[in-house]
Amino acid sequence: MPIIHELPTILADQIAAGEVIERPSSVVKELVENAIDAHSTRIDITVHHGGLASMQVTDNGDGIAPEQVRLAFQRFATSKIRNQADLFRVNSLGFRGEALPSIAAVATVDMKTSDGVHPGTELQMKGGKVEAELPAATRRGTTIEVTDLFFNTPKRRDYLKTSSTELSKITETVNHLALSHPEIAFSLVHDDKELLRTSGRANLQQVIAGIYNNQSIKKMIPVTAHNEDFELEGYTSLPELTRASRKYLSVIVNGRFVQDAELNRAIIAGYGSKLMVGRYPVTVLRITMDPTQLDVNVHPTKQAVRLLNQTELSQFITHAIAQTLADRNLIPAALDNH
Ligand code: ADP
Ligand code: MG
Repeated sequence: MPIIHELPTILADQIAAGEVIERPSSVVKELVENAIDAHSTRIDITVHHGGLASMQVTDNGDGIAPEQVRLAFQRFATSKIRNQADLFRVNSLGFRGEALPSIAAVATVDMKTSDGVHPGTELQMKGGKVEAELPAATRRGTTIEVTDLFFNTPKRRDYLKTSSTELSKITETVNHLALSHPEIAFSLVHDDKELLRTSGRANLQQVIAGIYNNQSIKKMIPVTAHNEDFELEGYTSLPELTRASRKYLSVIVNGRFVQDAELNRAIIAGYGSKLMVGRYPVTVLRITMDPTQLDVNVHPTKQAVRLLNQTELSQFITHAIAQTLADRNLIPAALDNH
């Protein structure tokens, strides 16, 4: 007879890490999301060798009190929700309490944190085990450095691509986070080269220009719309600026970048017959809606969401884009300075 037994915590964390932490960009995503949830106004990301050598995220947020630092690395330990009602109206990016234990299970982690009230703490972890906990002289906020990713899960490590492929995934992740939070000043530095810097002045247009370049933003026009269920603001390209990939369609719902084919189709539908086959616009839409209409607990990486009012939102988006392009066509050519 096979014997049923509970798995040791470290092994359980490693299994969970398989779902949450796929590659270096997943680490960056989880660390930056934690920094955003901690009310940071500045988030600095430094990576080396496409994240394969190291990844560091520094924020100026809430920090963690000394007696809570170890708890942050326990699975299903979170400060963000308390009960089922909270789960159904999640407003933070995290809530599963899985990221830090997952990362610590498959890497070396060094966290320095201070809540600005108590003395700071440094916690060093490796392969799910605490290596050292020391007092640290650090200002309010948190710095986490992750090295040796997948050192103890060789299959995962072998699956990683070249540093340039991993870097492009990290860049894409940081771009999405920066577009989702123009009110936060982000920087991304790779091997001492600055790849992105945003001002944190809540100017979406500036963030888009920083990511997609100044030429693109000149061919993008503002989209705004609202009804009793949704509030929308963003930018979308004139039909003359298109790309061969849907990668330039960004939909952000309640501050969370969501990957949703249906919403992407809704954007494209707004263009009617204005796009050539296989060409897609460059679009960034930020949507605000009632969080109870949104189920974010669909997948461990939290990029897929389930929308209870999917059809209504799709129609709202299509209409907003179509209306914006139609209004644009009403402007006489002589007044058009583009
Ligand atoms: P979750 O984000 O789902 O709560 P995590 O494992 O990512 O789970 O983080 C666990 C907890 O650690 C968080 O709930 C938060 O209280 C704390 N934490 C993590 N990162 C930070 C940070 N950068 N600043 C302040 N607190 C943090
Ligand atoms: Mg988290």
